[in-house]
Amino acid sequence: MSRIEFRNVCKRYAPDLPLTIHNASLSIEQGEFCVFVGPSGCGKSTLLRMVAGLEDISTGDLYIGDQRVNELPPAQRGVAMVFQSYALYPHMTVAENMAFGLRVLGADKAAIERKVKEAAAILQLTPLLDRLPKALSGGQRQRVAIGRAIVKNPKVFLFDEPLSNLDAALRVQTRLEIARLHRDMGSASMIYVTHDQVEAMTLAHKIVLLHTGELIGARGSVAQVGTPMDLYHRPASVFVAEFIGSPRMNLLDAVLVRAEADHAVLALAGQQLRADVDARHLPAGAAVRLGVRPEHLPLADHPPAQAGVLDGPLQHIERLGDASLLYVQAGGALLTVRVDGSALQPSGARVRTLLLPEHLHLFDSDGLACRRTAPLPH
Ligand code: ADP
Ligand code: MG
Repeated sequence: MSRIEFRNVCKRYAPDLPLTIHNASLSIEQGEFCVFVGPSGCGKSTLLRMVAGLEDISTGDLYIGDQRVNELPPAQRGVAMVFQSYALYPHMTVAENMAFGLRVLGADKAAIERKVKEAAAILQLTPLLDRLPKALSGGQRQRVAIGRAIVKNPKVFLFDEPLSNLDAALRVQTRLEIARLHRDMGSASMIYVTHDQVEAMTLAHKIVLLHTGELIGARGSVAQVGTPMDLYHRPASVFVAEFIGSPRMNLLDAVLVRAEADHAVLALAGQQLRADVDARHLPAGAAVRLGVRPEHLPLADHPPAQAGVLDGPLQHIERLGDASLLYVQAGGALLTVRVDGSALQPSGARVRTLLLPEHLHLFDSDGLACRRTAPLPH
């Protein structure tokens, strides 16, 4: 019913400007929680506003259910949007703010009251219904803004960076509330825009990661669509690999020695090592980039056979408590190595880490990933 589909959608704000959205094709299933994520300026808000009907589509088609909605006015789309700035009416109480949209539409008084009460109960706003916005915390104001969307009983909720104005602790709490709201709303879909990969990983069924800058023109707006674990374990490109995961993936220059169906042999830092990837489309001798996440670099004094080893001086330690980040000069780069917080390394020591075949990613000279052949953890 409320499946949303973008087909080859492009957006150019003005004839003399580059494309803001280039060939976006993607779909959001009914009931799905979809997150649009990407660096600032990549076009997330533009895409979301197209669903709301607040932004024209230059070329391509947008469908909601079976209906092409390119020209359909916002009010007829069955969507409700929650913005980063809560945009509450300061002179109206919480109840009046939530009721306002329905009153404008001419809904009857009893029905409005019932819907406001239901929404207030879902959002734990019942004791606050008579307050003015100025007497609410930031988190409570954001909940009122969400309540205003709930009372419209939309098929699709659209959120544009709703948590960016909240402090860190409140962001986590409100994130959990939004996840719960999605479960409680049953068949409603949600599209949620954020630049924060942690929000994307924690909330999404489906992540749509968008390219930025020149990559939009070169490869289209959509960098990768998949579950959070897809993007983490099988990033399609260097761009995705570096965006998802924190601290970001280490990248090292290497040379392809030989490619087999289930693994490749690489030359790096004077040794040959194995990566569980299919690189058979690349010629021997090709310059490649090897990717390995900081959390996938175990320390070891006695490396097992087939594992590569990187060995170098420890430049700096950042202690996070549960973990420590070691910065190690090795393999022609400053490697980030994440170790257990209790494994304290003396400053100035040498650090020896393992490159395990199942944890290595390989990218060609265009930054595109070779398919990984190692079985993935569940
Ligand atoms: P995001 O939400 O991902 O940060 P936006 O969708 O807001 O990105 O904007 C994407 C690009 O389009 C940016 O480069 C921005 O400057 C440009 N843009 C947004 N709105 C307009 C507009 N009304 N006119 C011209 N350019 C715009
Ligand atoms: Mg935006």
